[in-house]
Amino acid sequence: MKCRGFISVLGSIASGFWPRRRTIIAAMAALVLLPIEASDAGWLSDLFKGSSKQAKSTKPTKAKLPRYVASRKPATLAKPAASPRHRTVKLAALGPVALPAAALKPAVPLCDPAKFRIVLDVGHTAESEGATSARNVSEFVFNLRLARRIEEKLKAEGFAQTRLLLTEGKARRSLVRRVAAANDLSADLFLSIHHDSVPHKFLEDWEFEGKKSRFSDRFSGYSVFVSRSNPDFKTSLAFAELIGKEMKAQGLDYARQYSQAIMGRHQRPLLNKETGVYRYDELIVLRKTRMAAVLLEAGSIINRDEELRMSSPEHRDIISSGVAAAVKEYCEPRWAMLGPL
Ligand SMILES: [Zn+2]
Repeated sequence: MKCRGFISVLGSIASGFWPRRRTIIAAMAALVLLPIEASDAGWLSDLFKGSSKQAKSTKPTKAKLPRYVASRKPATLAKPAASPRHRTVKLAALGPVALPAAALKPAVPLCDPAKFRIVLDVGHTAESEGATSARNVSEFVFNLRLARRIEEKLKAEGFAQTRLLLTEGKARRSLVRRVAAANDLSADLFLSIHHDSVPHKFLEDWEFEGKKSRFSDRFSGYSVFVSRSNPDFKTSLAFAELIGKEMKAQGLDYARQYSQAIMGRHQRPLLNKETGVYRYDELIVLRKTRMAAVLLEAGSIINRDEELRMSSPEHRDIISSGVAAAVKEYCEPRWAMLGPL
C-alpha cells in the first residue's frame, strides 16, 4: 500500500484548528533535548525516550474506574450541553421501552461531543513503519486503516472535532512532531493507535508467498498503555480503563505477556488485570502530551492468526465501536449506567 502519497504535513493535517507556531517551536526545542535510545527493532521501543532501564515498578495499583468524573481537569470540561442526537440514538437502541429521558440522564455530560477535540495519532510513519507483520505488511498500514475507521465512527457519533494525526519522517523526529501537533491543537484527548509485535528473541522463521518471513504465534491480544508522567495521569488512566472495558465487552482478550518476566526490559506494570491496562511511563507520546493520553495496541500482527483478524474490516469495526463507546462514556458517563453499547 502506497501511503506516501496522502501523507500531509502537520499544518494541513491540523486544518480546522489553529496552529500556534511559537508553541510548536518551543515544544520541539524542548523535546529535541531529550536523549533517545537507539532501538534494535521498529517496535514499541522506538516510541520511548531515554533510559532503557525500566521505570521503577511500583506495585500495580487497582484502578478505580469512576474516578475520572471527579478528577477531570476543568480545562477539559466543556459547557454542559444536552445531546438530543445521542439520546435519540440510545433510546432507539433500547427498543420500544419508553423511558423518560430524565431517568437516563442523572449526570451532566462532561463534554460537548461537537466541541470535544480528539486527536487520533496514527502510529509510525511511511518512512519509519514500525513493526512488520508475519506476512510482511508494515504496522503503519494497519494503524492507518484502523485509525481512519475509528475517526469515521467517532464523527458519526457526533465527535466532529476528531482529527487524524499523520506525521512524516524518521521515528524520533516524528515523535517530536506528533507531540507538538497535539499540544498545539489543544486537544482534549490523545489516542495513539498501534499494532503489536514481540521482542526479537521470540521470532520464528517461516515462508510466506515464497519469501522468508518471521512470526510468533505465542502471544495475542490488545493492550492499553498509560504514562504516570502524563500531566493528567488520572484522566488518562480513566480513559484507558474505558477502552479496556469496551474491548473486553467486544469479546477481546488483552495481551498478558507484558506483565511477565520473560519480556525482560519490555515488562510493564499491569494496572488492571481485568481490562489490560499497563503503565509505560517513558513513552514520549504519552508523557509529553499536555492532555490525557492513551496508547492502544489493537492486536498482534506478528501472530499469524491474529494478523488475519486485524486485516478484516469486520474486526476493525469491532475495535472501532469499542473505542467510540469508550469515548462516549468518557464524555457522558451516564451511558456507563447502561452497560456497553
Ligand atoms: Zn507501533
